[in-house]
Amino acid sequence: MNVVVLGPPGAGKGTQAVRLAEAFGLQHLSSGDVLRAERQSGTELGGRVARYMDSGALVPDEIIVEVILVRVLKPTRPAGVLLDGFPRTLAQAEALDAALARADKRVDLVVSLVVADELIVDRITGRRVCPTCGAVYHVKSLPPRKAGVCDKDGAVLVHRTDDTAAVVKERLAAYQAQTRPLEVYYRNKGLVVEVDGTSEVDTVFGRAKKEISARLGEARA
Ligand code: ADP
Ligand code: AMP
Repeated sequence: MNVVVLGPPGAGKGTQAVRLAEAFGLQHLSSGDVLRAERQSGTELGGRVARYMDSGALVPDEIIVEVILVRVLKPTRPAGVLLDGFPRTLAQAEALDAALARADKRVDLVVSLVVADELIVDRITGRRVCPTCGAVYHVKSLPPRKAGVCDKDGAVLVHRTDDTAAVVKERLAAYQAQTRPLEVYYRNKGLVVEVDGTSEVDTVFGRAKKEISARLGEARA
């Protein structure tokens, strides 16, 4: 089963994707994490994508498609992938569909997390991430037990350089212009389930889990 988690930056895609992937034995594949790892390793690709990411713009389709599709087609977990942050444009969604179809696979469900723009700036500017294990916190809504320190491994949490109010504006604009049309694309295929992303993390998780379980049940019936 291949599931796409859709939603604006800060909607809670990563937070939910980690939990949902664990619950269903899927591989969590975050395009943002893949790109940040490339930058961290100082690869040529990392260098090419840096200025797009820092400005809040999307990385060009041909770059991200090449990087992500190889991973989608060879999932590290046999059950499939849970995509977080990809696709983000119609061209990416079409490339994903074509690649999956060639492997006799498909996108089985799109979980669309709905969160109003007014909440996004606070969500993103308050986000803190563990550089070691990737755990995601929020200074107000989901704080670690000890301020600035990861509960899981004790590493000092970091504030992503693109998680500033100014860059968030650009990321939201990119979302509205380039990613929003994907909702219609997937809706026309009957794949979208909407989940209110403003509820508490466990509530959002419970709803998304129910939707994925229902789709899995249909697929097996
Ligand atoms: P995305 O992957 O969509 O960019 P994240 O999962 O990283 O979003 O979440 C963005 C921020 O919002 C993080 O600081 C996270 O801790 C917080 N967050 C996520 N889900 C919720 C929620 N349901 N309620 C409150 N804060 C949340
Ligand atoms: P994220 O971690 O999902 O917030 O993504 C961080 C940044 O990585 C984005 O602002 C983009 O610059 C880049 N990025 C991540 N995923 C994609 C994608 N599917 N297409 C283009 N750019 C992406």
